Amino acid sequence: MTRARTQGPRELHLRKLPGVDRVLEHPRLVGLGLRHALVRRVVVDVIASERARIMAAVDEARDPNPPVAELDELAAAARAQLDRWLQVHPRRVLNGTGVLLHTNLGRAPLSAAARAAVDAAAGTCDLELELDDGKRGSRLALLSPLLSALFEAEDVLVVNNGAAALLLACTALASGGSTGGVVLSRGQHVEIGDSFRVAEMAAAGGVPVIAVGSTNRTHLRDYSAALQGRPDAALLWVHQSNFVQAGFVHEPELAQLAGLASSQHVPLIADLGSGSLGLGVPADEPTVTAYLEQGATIVSFSGDKLLGGPQAGILAGSAAAISRCRRHPLARALRCGKLALAALHATAIAHASANTPHLPFHDMLAIEQAQLRARGERLCQALGWPPERVRDCQATIGGGSMPGQQLPSVALVVPGKAHQAAARLRRGDPPLIARAHEKQLWIDLRTLTGVDDEVLLNSLRQLG
Ligand SMILES: *Cc1c(COP(=O)(O)O)cnc(C)c1O
Repeated sequence: MTRARTQGPRELHLRKLPGVDRVLEHPRLVGLGLRHALVRRVVVDVIASERARIMAAVDEARDPNPPVAELDELAAAARAQLDRWLQVHPRRVLNGTGVLLHTNLGRAPLSAAARAAVDAAAGTCDLELELDDGKRGSRLALLSPLLSALFEAEDVLVVNNGAAALLLACTALASGGSTGGVVLSRGQHVEIGDSFRVAEMAAAGGVPVIAVGSTNRTHLRDYSAALQGRPDAALLWVHQSNFVQAGFVHEPELAQLAGLASSQHVPLIADLGSGSLGLGVPADEPTVTAYLEQGATIVSFSGDKLLGGPQAGILAGSAAAISRCRRHPLARALRCGKLALAALHATAIAHASANTPHLPFHDMLAIEQAQLRARGERLCQALGWPPERVRDCQATIGGGSMPGQQLPSVALVVPGKAHQAAARLRRGDPPLIARAHEKQLWIDLRTLTGVDDEVLLNSLRQLG
């Protein structure tokens, strides 16, 4: 028997693949002025995925004789991969999904002032320096009191994101061990995006979550029973920020929980998530101030949801509780970077207005359906599309706020197969992301409120 005959078809095909060094010598990959280790890694990856493709094709007997990539194809694939890696991600995209706070699209877009603030902070800046006396200062010296005043809280602390705020509050305000824990209703074991569960995030610092009640009904007595023998525990309230419950359901009011917490001398941590300041957002979403008025010791929420700012986590609450959080070692690990702080400060300044803040998110919420309809008709005309392509639809806020609530909106309906049109728009410059609905592609104009007509038309012309 010859050597070749002892080999299976897989090995025979794999032997045809060029080696790493041969691909590296290809003219497409020579003289790029890039680190050898980088180019080599990409070539190794490209060959490995070609190898995996051949093996899968042969093993599944889909193709006993699969084509094997030529040297030139492998070099081209490596070059394309390098080009992708060496282009900054994330890129700007246009949000035509009708979801105002889309986590996959970076949630709230920043205002021009917030972008300028990021730019100023990007260089050397007075992050932790008092310009008056030249002494060391705090990065939150001005932002904390401003936010405290806006939220009507005694004090405020800013960290990296909403999850960090929750983790810090639970870890700093309750103890682990048999006398501690955070008590949470089974009806509030919320799962947020990407399979992350609030109860697991709350417990990640070593303070266990004690589940009480049932999915649909939890009573005050369930909480008070759990607190027996746990003087170092805390009560945790998690806002049902992305789902609604109906039917045979019961949970105590937040204020009743606050009464229990104060009689038992334990803190009440309320994870609100959305962080509304009231003005310009639908009234049924609870505000941070309302949670504090109802007796929450500390409220945690995100900077990039209803607040309309950058990714950040905010804790608002009693001076004593915030001080415990600020001094906990986790506070240093979870602190907010200078770019986000600058953007958050600019966002807070917009919220200082007595009127609805002029922030991109709030503008998207405020625009009237009639204005959207008029814009849709203008765009259709410019594209030479028939006016029937302008249709009424429903947008949503998303981002863990106002579940089930819809906002009347207007969309342009793209002709043809939804997935083909979607792919073409994603490849546009800038890419436009829309939503499939009734087998067609709908481009929601509410979430495109801040985008110039010309930019939008350029993307739409990709459709041909
Ligand atoms: C969104 C959300 C979080 C997490 O906030 P991030 O800013 O995404 O880390 C936590 N709890 C609730 C209730 C939320 O809605």
